[in-house]
Amino acid sequence: MIYKRSSALFAEAEKVIPGGVNSPVRAFKGVGGTPIFVKEAKGAYLYDEDGNKLIDYINSWGPMILGHAYQPVVDAVVEKAKKGTSFGMPTEIETEIAELAVSMVPNIDKIRFVNSGTEACMSAVRLARGFTGKDKIVKFAGCYHGHSDSFLIQAGSGASTFGTPNSPGVTQGTAKDTLLAHYNDIDNVKELIAANPNEIACIIIEPVAGNMGCVPPQNDFLQKLRTVCDENNILLIFDEVMTGFRLAKGGAQELFGIKADIVCFGKVIGGGLPVGAFAARNEIMNHLAPLGPVYQAGTLSGNPLAMAAGLAMLTALNEEPEIFNRLAEKTEYLHKGIAKVLSDNNITHTINRVGSMISVHFDEAEVVDFTTAAKGNNDTFKKFFHGLLNEGVYIAPSAFETWFITDALSYDDLDFTINAVNKVAKGL
Ligand code: PLP
Repeated sequence: MIYKRSSALFAEAEKVIPGGVNSPVRAFKGVGGTPIFVKEAKGAYLYDEDGNKLIDYINSWGPMILGHAYQPVVDAVVEKAKKGTSFGMPTEIETEIAELAVSMVPNIDKIRFVNSGTEACMSAVRLARGFTGKDKIVKFAGCYHGHSDSFLIQAGSGASTFGTPNSPGVTQGTAKDTLLAHYNDIDNVKELIAANPNEIACIIIEPVAGNMGCVPPQNDFLQKLRTVCDENNILLIFDEVMTGFRLAKGGAQELFGIKADIVCFGKVIGGGLPVGAFAARNEIMNHLAPLGPVYQAGTLSGNPLAMAAGLAMLTALNEEPEIFNRLAEKTEYLHKGIAKVLSDNNITHTINRVGSMISVHFDEAEVVDFTTAAKGNNDTFKKFFHGLLNEGVYIAPSAFETWFITDALSYDDLDFTINAVNKVAKGL
């Protein structure tokens, strides 16, 4: 494929935008080469500035679960825009989407909308601290909860791609309140709790990790966390920015039958517009300003265009819940197809999958946490990535990311992808 125009646009962008991108992992630093500039997208496909058509497995890093330019979302946004784009005053549509979200997700009474997943997680932690009166938090190595200071401690995703486990600019004071645990290791969590008695406000976790590849919880890990939190007066925060409205209507809480105390959303909930949200039972949410003392605010929070996009998206998912089974079936088909061609070509690999999240690791060890995820052969991944790109298949430009399957993908697209993996595997 030719990327002449993308290269020229990137060179221009680099002059005025740091690294030429507005979010680091877009820069292809982990895999080398020039980022692709998108012109437009429809359904399962991206069309770039050089006229190439690519099957998209990133889907804006998760939001486009029903494909690009999904008509009901586009129509809702266009109609709303004609009536004004922001008021900074309450609108009816905010209550409509809140009612719908509360009806779809287990164990929440109230939801507050913000503009990104980062804001959702950062606000959820503040709320947990305000509610419990304790300062420390536990996060898991390889989990990403956005770029807020407390989370940039072995943060997975882009932070791992760039080898910056702890970002300069995060103060020691902040870092000391973030305790780091190993994913899927309940004994490690118990040790941290024992070493910090009555100091831990919350444990925040991606209930299926998606920022070190896709890593499922194992051996009732989430249930054990729930128990340990209950025993120690610690709030359990599920960061469902990736998994919310993706793994099931009610996200990972529904899929695994575990109740979290606070749930964070992003990605799908905004239908492709900048939306995040956090939600909990009344007793916790009533601590938030203006009802309670924990402050949180936003000029564009609950923006009418964003709410219109989110409402159209959630309505579609609510009205046709078979979508989640269909997505899981497509993902399983892709998993089996890729596993077969990689095995036929004697390529060492492990594939992890939950629902419509999947990732391919180039190592034989089972991937259960950040240490095992980091063992994957990055040279093989780079060749895999560029090989697939050359065949017209776009996966995330980092081994630490999940692929997101969209309902717009046809079985022909999946077969095309498996075929492309077969061709690429021969050169790995
Ligand atoms: N939490 C998780 C699990 C994420 O994957 C992300 C982003 O990828 C975030 C939080 C941060 O969301 P945003 O990028 O919208 O700030």
